[in-house]
Amino acid sequence: MPITHADIVAARERLAGRLRHTPLAPSLSLSARCGVPVHLKLEHHQVTGSFKVRGATNAVLALSDDQKAKGIVGVSTGNHGRGLAHAAKEAGVRCIICMSSLVPANKVEGIEALGAEVRIVGASQDEAQDEVDRLVADEGLTMLPPFDHPDIIAGQGTLGLEMLADLPDLDTVLVPLSGGGLIAGIALAVKTARPSARVVGVSMERGAAMVESLRAGKPVFVQELATLADSLGGGIGLRNAHTFAMVRDLVDQTVTLTEDEIAAGIRHAYWREIEIVEGSGAVGLGALLADTVRPTGPTVVLLSGRNIDMTLHHRIVSGGRAHAYGDS
Ligand SMILES: *Cc1c(COP(=O)(O)O)cnc(C)c1O
Repeated sequence: MPITHADIVAARERLAGRLRHTPLAPSLSLSARCGVPVHLKLEHHQVTGSFKVRGATNAVLALSDDQKAKGIVGVSTGNHGRGLAHAAKEAGVRCIICMSSLVPANKVEGIEALGAEVRIVGASQDEAQDEVDRLVADEGLTMLPPFDHPDIIAGQGTLGLEMLADLPDLDTVLVPLSGGGLIAGIALAVKTARPSARVVGVSMERGAAMVESLRAGKPVFVQELATLADSLGGGIGLRNAHTFAMVRDLVDQTVTLTEDEIAAGIRHAYWREIEIVEGSGAVGLGALLADTVRPTGPTVVLLSGRNIDMTLHHRIVSGGRAHAYGDS
């Protein structure tokens, strides 16, 4: 294992007082439906609206003084970008987020509002990545990736410690799954203390890179498709160094959901739990509602983020067309 339980405990010490220990709230409707106590981990109320700030903050605080003086760089326009921007600002570290000219203005403004410099380069993600590589090589900035990094995984693992602290007899944990940094950290934290607990990863059918890679026995390329769970899109990296092996070795089960099942999760969060959750954050709810996962004891459903376009959210909870885009 690239990281140990002690790394996650160390991350908890680093993050203490800087980020929220988010609440674990019982869901009366899901408990009644599933016949076991079901709790929601309200991580969408984390600073920046998602858990990604945990890993980002842990990684920034773990940098050497020299690395901190030079700054960090990343390419994400979504939750990882927000997490990096916030983490860097709090630590007084320069942060550059590179993006292509195709990125919509509201996303650029969102990152800038958190205090990061945005550098618009070229018309593709690849050109943005070239600029990242240049900043690393020529100016000595440190690139922090969204999931495949020991300090990022350890930071996300603090969620597992919080779940255990608040529900010591937990039996099943449902975790949204993309690159696997989130579930790898949680699985290591939870299974070290409670080997009998079951950790289940939930992805969307449309472009489940980790699920396909597990099936193939190695990291594989998977076509990225439009989905309501947009924060779960993207590959795991053909040269994946950490998360693939950890997910393979620690995670008990992975499942995938249709777009309608993800939409049902968003609707349930809103109408029954009074929570606004993005598609990627609602897949655990969707999996329980679709009976894709059947919990066998006290269960935690991780709501991982809330950064959804509110026009889209309004359409989904109003019962309109469930799909984010026209092609599914
Ligand atoms: C990034 C993200 C995930 C998935 O995390 P991985 O570490 O890539 O598996 C889940 N939910 C939300 C809201 C995210 O932003």
